[in-house]
Amino acid sequence: TMTFSDSIFAERESEVRSYSRGWPAVFATASGSWLTDRDGHKYLDFFAGAGALNYGHNHPVLKEALLEYMAGDGITHGLDMSTIAKGEFLQTFQDTILMPRNLDYKVMFPGPTGTNTVEAALKLARKVTGREAIINFTNAFHGMTLGALSVTGNAFKRAGAGVPLVHTTPMPYDDYFDGEMQDFGWFERVLEDSGSGFNKPAGVIVETVQGEGGVNVARAEWLRGLADLCKRHDILLIVDDVQMGCGRTGPFFSFEIAGITPDIVTLSKSIGGYGLPMALTLFRRDLDIWEPAEHNGTFRGNNPSFVTAKAAVDHFWSDDAFEKETIAKGNRIHEVFTELSNKHEGVSTRGRGMAQGLVFEAPGQAGKVCQLAFDNHLLTETAGPSDQVVKLLPPLTITHDELEQGLDILATATAQVS
Ligand code: PMP
Repeated sequence: TMTFSDSIFAERESEVRSYSRGWPAVFATASGSWLTDRDGHKYLDFFAGAGALNYGHNHPVLKEALLEYMAGDGITHGLDMSTIAKGEFLQTFQDTILMPRNLDYKVMFPGPTGTNTVEAALKLARKVTGREAIINFTNAFHGMTLGALSVTGNAFKRAGAGVPLVHTTPMPYDDYFDGEMQDFGWFERVLEDSGSGFNKPAGVIVETVQGEGGVNVARAEWLRGLADLCKRHDILLIVDDVQMGCGRTGPFFSFEIAGITPDIVTLSKSIGGYGLPMALTLFRRDLDIWEPAEHNGTFRGNNPSFVTAKAAVDHFWSDDAFEKETIAKGNRIHEVFTELSNKHEGVSTRGRGMAQGLVFEAPGQAGKVCQLAFDNHLLTETAGPSDQVVKLLPPLTITHDELEQGLDILATATAQVS
């Protein structure tokens, strides 16, 4: 018999571009780490909205805050006006996240998505410095609009624009080279050589762990080297924490492990907490040279997101228990993945916190693992330039039992393809 998914989605594949091809199910509801399809089958979600659901689906505390707000006719669309919901979020974010970390940033709402905050960061860096170029890294992912795409390394994604993008200079990410190319000496030399023809860039944009790029982890020393170089040469350091922020790697900001203070930080995905669109651009106060309305947008102030964002910060970030739990769960994934790497030829692992990757040397194997996982009702995605990595981004709120259940499915799938 034809199911709903066969008919509506398969039939209309030519009209509707979506996940329906890889994940042939029609989902109806979600709670915690689980999605339920229209036939009542449950799927364990190790993808968590590509990092937008660090606190799981419909977390009860966040849901209650949202329902209460809606019941009281709270403002849903407020442009970027001052509202109570916005003020309360800003106060909480300041007191609970920024101040205890000694971070003194201005906060801007650049639009609803990760791409929007990246665009704002790039624009600001260029305007502040009066310079044009932005340095990005091999395998970086920063978004799909022209500016954000121009600093995205993935050739396939870049091809989506059809014609060449704004020219940028990609630098090798940590671990791209071995040995002496690993530090920034070569780059500094080119920067200082007036005859090199190398234009001093406005900024450098970097992910501390590349998510889409294949769970590539930058070492703390490498990040410090980059931050020092930027400081010495008056180049703005932008950390794109859209995917690795909000506790994904353990601490609220992924750059905390390196003890660096970026000039500009981008946040989105899980900052709203409930899967509703929200993005923040944080920048050094003295960088605020924008005239009013030089960067605006209709959907900048998503008030329901402010409500859930505030509730999430209050609930999860008032002490360090959540960070510790995340690190412990991440260590457990790493342990299981290390066992799998030792057991199976051509399999290795890398990651930080609850962003972990299982890397398959043989082409197509990671995709097969994800397909087998789906057949066993576990949602995972591949990442990396040739989709060679199974990327795990479970909700940080996942229980230990759920985590073991998902890891078992992955272990079986890995054995099947190896
Ligand atoms: N930056 C990073 C590091 C990301 O991982 C993503 C999304 N995967 C983006 C930016 C773009 O975010 P969005 O899809 O919300 O536009």
